[in-house]
Amino acid sequence: MDLSNLQSALQVSDDGLALLVGFLCFREEPRSRLPALARMEEAQVSAALPLLVDAGLVEGTVRDDETWYRLVPIDELARRARSAVPADARERPALDLELERLTEVRELEHRRFINVIGIRERLHAPAPIPAVAEYMRRFYPYLDLRMGTICNFNCVYCLVGSEKKFVRPVQEIEADLALGRRAGLLGVALTGGEPTLHPGLFEVLARCRAHGYERIILVTNGSLLAEARNVDRLLDAGVTTIGISYDTADAKTAHQLWRREAFDAVEAGIENVLTRTGIPLGTIGVVTRATLHQLEDLVRRLGALTRDRGGLYTFNLDFIMPEENAWANREALVPDYREIAQPLRAALDLAAAMELPLTYRGVPPCVLGEDHLDRDMDRFMTIFQIHEDDAGVRYNRNALDLYRTKPASCRACRHFRTCPGVYRSYLHLRGPDALVPVPRRGRSG
Ligand code: SF4
Repeated sequence: MDLSNLQSALQVSDDGLALLVGFLCFREEPRSRLPALARMEEAQVSAALPLLVDAGLVEGTVRDDETWYRLVPIDELARRARSAVPADARERPALDLELERLTEVRELEHRRFINVIGIRERLHAPAPIPAVAEYMRRFYPYLDLRMGTICNFNCVYCLVGSEKKFVRPVQEIEADLALGRRAGLLGVALTGGEPTLHPGLFEVLARCRAHGYERIILVTNGSLLAEARNVDRLLDAGVTTIGISYDTADAKTAHQLWRREAFDAVEAGIENVLTRTGIPLGTIGVVTRATLHQLEDLVRRLGALTRDRGGLYTFNLDFIMPEENAWANREALVPDYREIAQPLRAALDLAAAMELPLTYRGVPPCVLGEDHLDRDMDRFMTIFQIHEDDAGVRYNRNALDLYRTKPASCRACRHFRTCPGVYRSYLHLRGPDALVPVPRRGRSG
């Protein structure tokens, strides 16, 4: 999300804006937790916080020997920003739009909402490779339904790492399913944590079917699928597609990443799904510093696992999102984009040569080049939220857009309109130097 007009109206530094965005995502927190919550280094917070307090944008209260900080009410923040930009100024409409989006982010906190994965409108982008186009045609859009946070792994990059462990009650899940159907969705993905550990999983599957969901995707670490009868029970209960986390073909690395010796079980789970004819399989691998030189091996292994077997597959590589556990382990795990360009390109070249449906996400074309844009999921998918108010079902993607941004230099890039940018937390950690704008071609850009 571009907040450049807000930044200049409030006259805050890049770090000041980054911290303000962090504050938008939580209510009131003790000083000691701010760096981890805002995904910033301590030195950045130390420099930016006093300036935000002096400017009256953030308030502190001393409690229990520590100062707790929170953002001023969003109306107050908006009033201050607008007071710096006259109503007839050229920048004012853009500032108003930014403030409107931030206000919606803040308001969404008080509402029940669901996350949806949908198809992104394509602007000047090549069509996806056939397997991905078919997968999207069959399964998108779908409700991304979180079942809770409990898990039998404790992955070093987990995005729910520090969250309290909980299982969502079936009634709460039921309300999400109902809202998804009112929004017209026919697909649902059960995610976690680890959804196969939810004690009400089969009841939830029955309710998915009762609501009329035609496509039910189970997104799992795969460890419980090593038992073939578990796969059969899930398919009998209505699961139509299975997605399995599979980061590396190396058992030792997998153990280090997942903090559990489960590599053989996960591979057995993949094999068990592959022997069930007609069940689409997706794998999701998180690309980290620990795995970037193993990507070609992973492609070869995926090729060996699926060789001569029919069916619909997609294999995705997600650049690590520097949040939660991944932020805590950032030095060991989060590569600079310049480290990843060559290994990821080599893996994609190999997949293309092997005709394997490998895709990727989270790496912009200025880093990777343009040879594999037909495998860039950021170009084809979108994540948004749905809630209901008096006007009915409403769509909103502002809260999720907050996670990504583009540095000012991106304005010169020919991908500026289509590129969703990079994770803010990546920029806090590695800075913008790897993002070199791609020159525009003539006037068409
Ligand atoms: S818009 Fe920015 S992040 Fe995206 S490809 Fe261009 S330079 Fe890279």
